[in-house]
Amino acid sequence: MKIIIDAGHGGSDSGAVGEFSCEKDITLKLAKVVGFLLEHLGYEVRLTRDGDYLPTWAERVESKKEDIFISIHCNGAPNPSAQGIETFYYKGSEKGEALARSIQGSLIEATKGVDRFVKENDNMYVLRRTRCPAVLVEVGFITNEYEEKLLNSADYQLKLALAVVQGIRDKG
Ligand SMILES: [Zn+2]
Repeated sequence: MKIIIDAGHGGSDSGAVGEFSCEKDITLKLAKVVGFLLEHLGYEVRLTRDGDYLPTWAERVESKKEDIFISIHCNGAPNPSAQGIETFYYKGSEKGEALARSIQGSLIEATKGVDRFVKENDNMYVLRRTRCPAVLVEVGFITNEYEEKLLNSADYQLKLALAVVQGIRDKG
């Protein structure tokens, strides 16, 4: 089984923007740590990007049925008080939903963050076009002052990465 770790955005697409940081940089750091930890545990890993560039959608979603696809994002909202963690899966995918629940549960347990729960989605490209169970995790709001600081701290990034890995492992 190969695990595909997708760092959201990249290059000219910075993703959501906070006071002092960009989503694309945080997702890359997290993806690298998650990938490193999974490889250490013996999983085969593919990162959809390993630097600050923008892969094509086709490159991102290239996958086989037996793979697992995890897309990592940070949230942004006009309301600066919005915060918390949520995980999306492709509507109707039982395996995707189970994986999303496992990762979301693990993230909330590890961070004690606000639980925005798992949500089904049928229009996100990376969920719609991957052939394998796929989830998209929004690990926090870069537009929230408190969460932006957390998201940029190496300790918290490691905590998030370990929780994502635990969520994957709990699903087998
Ligand atoms: Zn994003």
